[in-house]
Amino acid sequence: MEYRRLGKTELKVSVIGFGGIPVQRIDAASAEKVVNRAIELGINFFDTARGYTDSEEKLGAVLKKHRDKVIIATKSMARDKKGMAEEIDKSLMTMGMDYIDLYQLHNVKDKGTLEQVLGADGALAALKEAKEKGKIRHIGVTGHIKAILLEILKTGEIETVQFPFNPVEIDGAQDVFELAQKMDAGVIVMKPMAGGALTNANLTLRYILEHPVSVAIPGMDSLEQVEENATVGNEPRALTDQEREELARSVEKLGTSFCRRCEYCLPCQQGIDIPSVFLFDGYYTRYDLKDWAKGRYQAMEVKADSCLECGECEERCPYNLPIREMLKEAAERLGK
Ligand code: SF4
Ligand code: SF4
Repeated sequence: MEYRRLGKTELKVSVIGFGGIPVQRIDAASAEKVVNRAIELGINFFDTARGYTDSEEKLGAVLKKHRDKVIIATKSMARDKKGMAEEIDKSLMTMGMDYIDLYQLHNVKDKGTLEQVLGADGALAALKEAKEKGKIRHIGVTGHIKAILLEILKTGEIETVQFPFNPVEIDGAQDVFELAQKMDAGVIVMKPMAGGALTNANLTLRYILEHPVSVAIPGMDSLEQVEENATVGNEPRALTDQEREELARSVEKLGTSFCRRCEYCLPCQQGIDIPSVFLFDGYYTRYDLKDWAKGRYQAMEVKADSCLECGECEERCPYNLPIREMLKEAAERLGK
C-alpha cells in the first residue's frame, strides 16, 4: 500500500482509505470482517460521521483494537460550540476511544454556515478546545461547494479538506488542490466513484491518485470491494492512453445531470429514497441492466410516483438537480 502525507497533520495515510457510509447496510459481524480485511491490506485511514447512523459504532468496535495502527476521522453537522463539544464526546463514547485523529466540520455548504462555524460561539471553537484537551488531534472540513472550502482553507485553521472529486466532478477541484498545497492542508477525496455512477474502481481511483490528493475514500461494505480498492493502492500506476480513453467514454456516457448520492436531499416528506431511485434508473439507462433495475425499484416501499412535488428536496440538492422531473422520468421507465 502506498502512503502519503496528510498535509500538516504529518499523518501518513494509505492512499486508499475506508469510506464509512456503506457499513450502515451490513451487520456488525460483517462490518468486523470487512474492516479487519482492510487493515490487513494496509488501509489505515477510516472515515465516518455522527450522521451515518451506526457507522461510528461498527467501525469503533473493530478499530479500537488496532488503535495505534489506524487513523480515525469522523465529523459532525453541529454548527455551534456547545453542540460540537457534545458531538465530540458522543463520538468518543460511541467508538470507545480516548482520542480521535481527525474531527471534521461536516458539510459546510454556504456563507451562513461558514460564518456560524467560524464565529466566537461556533463549532470551530469547540474543535480547538477539544484539540487542546487531547480529545481530538486534528481539525478538518468537508463540503461540496468549492468556493466555501476555499474560504475556510484561507483562514489557516483547517488541517484537512474533504470534497468530492472524480472524473465526472472536476469543476473547481484544481483551485482547492492549489490552495490546499499552499496552506499545507491534507486532501481527502470523498465520493471517488461519483456515488456509484462510475463502476470501474481501478481506473477511477488511479485517475484520482494522479492528482495531489492524500487519500481517496471509497465506501466499502464487502470483502471484494476492499480487495479491489486496496489493489489499486498497492500500485497506483498512471493510466495508459487506452485506459484514459476508456474512462473518458464512461464519463461521456454519464453526462452532468446525474445524482451523486450525497443524500442531502433527504428526508423526503413522502419517504421516497431519492438517491436509490436515481441509482436504479442509472443502471437502467446507462448500464443496460434493465430487468435488475426494475426489480430493485419494484421492491422499494415508496416509489417515485408518490412525489407531491413540494420541491423541498431540490432546495437541498447541492448539484441543483431537477429532482421532481427526474423522478417522473424514472417512474416512467421503472414503474411499468
Ligand atoms: S418534491 Fe417530491 S421527492 Fe422531493 S421532497 Fe417533495 S415529495 Fe419528496
Ligand atoms: S438528488 Fe441531489 S441531493 Fe439527492 S442524492 Fe442526488 S445529488 Fe445528492
